[in-house]
Amino acid sequence: MEAYMDNAATTKMSSAAIKAMLPYLEEEYGNPSSLHSRGQKAAEALESARKMVAECLGALPKEIYFTSGGSEADNQAILSAAMIGLRKGKKHIVTTAFEHHAVLHTLLKLEKQGFDVQYLSVGKQGNVSAEQVAKAIREDTCLVTMMTANNEIGSILPIAEIGAVCREKKVLFHTDAVQAVGHIPVNVQEMKADMLSMSAHKFHGPKGVGVLYAKSGIALTNLIEGGAQERGKRAGTENVAGIMGMAVALREATNHLSDNMKKVSALRDKLIAGLLKIPHCVLNGDPVHRLPGNVHFCFEGIEGESLLLLLDEFGVQGSSGSACTSGSLDPSHVLLAIGHPHEIAHGSLRLTLSEYTTEQEVDLALDAVPKVVERLRSMSPIWRDKVNGNKPFIL
Ligand SMILES: *Cc1c(COP(=O)(O)O)cnc(C)c1O
Repeated sequence: MEAYMDNAATTKMSSAAIKAMLPYLEEEYGNPSSLHSRGQKAAEALESARKMVAECLGALPKEIYFTSGGSEADNQAILSAAMIGLRKGKKHIVTTAFEHHAVLHTLLKLEKQGFDVQYLSVGKQGNVSAEQVAKAIREDTCLVTMMTANNEIGSILPIAEIGAVCREKKVLFHTDAVQAVGHIPVNVQEMKADMLSMSAHKFHGPKGVGVLYAKSGIALTNLIEGGAQERGKRAGTENVAGIMGMAVALREATNHLSDNMKKVSALRDKLIAGLLKIPHCVLNGDPVHRLPGNVHFCFEGIEGESLLLLLDEFGVQGSSGSACTSGSLDPSHVLLAIGHPHEIAHGSLRLTLSEYTTEQEVDLALDAVPKVVERLRSMSPIWRDKVNGNKPFIL
């Protein structure tokens, strides 16, 4: 038996989404820019997908820009806001210390160009408050960019409150909602978001397709120059099949949102309660404002990579945190941001569930994780020192 518990990295495609894509891979292969009937059929499909996505987000179809995914949407949103700021002589940006690398690395690029980026601390529970944001905003702030929910530890930020602060102070507000869309209610009106990023493969759609929502009136800067696709703001022949798959996956997730949230968070809570019985561990992230599918622990005296490899032998497919940092020896910036020392940050395990996760899979993880943790600790000289009292326990 296998338990796929890495849904924050990517999800299984829904069969409705696959079915929606097939016609555009087979017979309806026209280019939406072509004037003949096959092209126009593709153009109609594209616009129907745009309408579906807009409805699910509370946006207008003309505010939806199709991209290659969440990373591209993050890059374009932030660079566009920076260009708008530059024209007004405003170069201050407010963000958090635990954003996704698609946001952080774009901000790093802007810092090198003279922008002043302020990283708000996220506290021990991994969250920020609207008051922190209000305090940070200055006369020369051109952008606040904050994720709706964290991809590693699952904290859900008070985005509607943060959005209201930004709107009141007339500062552009972007949110990376890649982990939130399809999993918790996301409405750009309620969030008062000026820009929002999402990605299809995080909610059972295909990989390589996403959306940048930009409120009408916001002057986007192109990342890709060329044809007039996406109202001139994102050149390149559209990924018609992928876009259709995304729209159908989003509609499906939106229609079943409250049922799925209930079901998935019950499984999450069972898994968390069981893992908390392991000695010397900590549940990371906000215990209350938490994504329905997120379980994230640090275990003292464990090396996260070995934990993952052994768990895989039991059929449990998890992650040490962000898939983007796997393979690097640096501990996760998210775990350092919530104040863990390196030793603890290295012993992390993220298990992320979806509506396809079964109770049997949760039981498999509940059986495997304690066994693997115990086995790794029994082989660790550091752990022996701690047990013998030669070194203090941290957790
Ligand atoms: C996955 C993810 C991204 C990147 O999305 P891609 O479509 O894979 O480029 C950005 N932000 C967050 C929070 C994510 O989880």
